[in-house]
Amino acid sequence: MPLLPGHATLGVLGGGQLGRMFVHAAQALGYRCVVLDPDESSPAGAVAHDHVRADYLDAQALEDLARRCDAITTEFENVPARALEQLARTRVVAPGAAAVAVCQDRAREKAHFDASGVPCAPYAVLRGTADLAAVPDTLLPGILKTARLGYDGKGQRRVADRAQLTAAFDELGRVDCVLEQMLPLALELSVLVARGADGQVQTYPVQQNLHRDGILAVTEVPAPQVDAAMQAQARQSAAAIAAGLGYVGVLCVEFFVLKDGRLVVNEMAPRPHNSGHYTMDACDVSQFEMQVRAMAGLPLREPRLHSPVVMLNLLGDLWFDADGRERAPDWAGVLAIPGAELHLYGKTEARHGRKMGHLNVIGASADEARDNARRACALLG
Ligand code: ADP
Ligand code: MG
Repeated sequence: MPLLPGHATLGVLGGGQLGRMFVHAAQALGYRCVVLDPDESSPAGAVAHDHVRADYLDAQALEDLARRCDAITTEFENVPARALEQLARTRVVAPGAAAVAVCQDRAREKAHFDASGVPCAPYAVLRGTADLAAVPDTLLPGILKTARLGYDGKGQRRVADRAQLTAAFDELGRVDCVLEQMLPLALELSVLVARGADGQVQTYPVQQNLHRDGILAVTEVPAPQVDAAMQAQARQSAAAIAAGLGYVGVLCVEFFVLKDGRLVVNEMAPRPHNSGHYTMDACDVSQFEMQVRAMAGLPLREPRLHSPVVMLNLLGDLWFDADGRERAPDWAGVLAIPGAELHLYGKTEARHGRKMGHLNVIGASADEARDNARRACALLG
């Protein structure tokens, strides 16, 4: 039996912008929403019907959340698996703790890619200094990544040789790490896949992503430099990865296209993703609505891209002028641009590198979307 709009209450662990956009989508369908987040002024807590202000491992608060909700999801990757397990004893939890645990650990994630038959970068798992000697030469130069808790390029070191590898492993605190061979990237892609508890699967059109300083800057759809065969391959791979996890909900899978044309999977996030924000204005069903549908047991309609789109992340840097003085970006100017759709997350304090919002610029053609996105960039400086 699906949890029907107008009746059920949906809960979300985490109160950041992803939670906020999830709540907006759920409320538009008529669900009530409860957010659990310790932060008084969380972006999602501000828009939910209820905000439980407590730690994610506060057993009492989790019980309170379970009592108020019919189903619960998470908006951040590092939600403690124990919290999901406690909630799952009495409520629908999507995605489940076991799938989330795989995504939280790069070593387990890579093992899952191997098991799914989807190629990833050659790698070695380092669980202590004793493992350093066994690293094959072929993995250098490489990138050392902490197995857990990395994001936006944090918890990573590029290493050219064994001396740098040892130093980087020390610097990262000798925690469990994965060393990956440095690959010659042509471009980066990601794919959203949604899967229901009954096994129905839908994938979205492939996103082409540009990062700056380790943070996503621009997403373009349709992916301008990716042919139809590779798009189909990426979508099939993402669907296989989700199915192998028994995944329920929206999963985002990141890929590299190498200079020799090969497609390689990089990592995955067990939730809607920054690179999927384009779906809010360019598709007939957004990634957040899809998350609602999946956890509620509703039909996952095949998503349709109705407009070419360029998504621009709006980082806190835009709130400062060249001299470091705080300023208000020219939103009125931006909103005068055809096809420009503004999404701000309600964060009161702007900081460099902080995700404050995003702008989707849609067009009748990819060129039109790109031209208008350029105009927006010029206005925002
Ligand atoms: P994060 O969790 O910070 O997003 P990623 O594993 O996606 O971590 O790495 C961040 C970025 O570093 C990637 O988007 C890509 O540009 C680059 N990168 C990561 N792994 C490799 C690799 N094996 N070879 C080349 N570049 C890589
Ligand atoms: Mg990444």
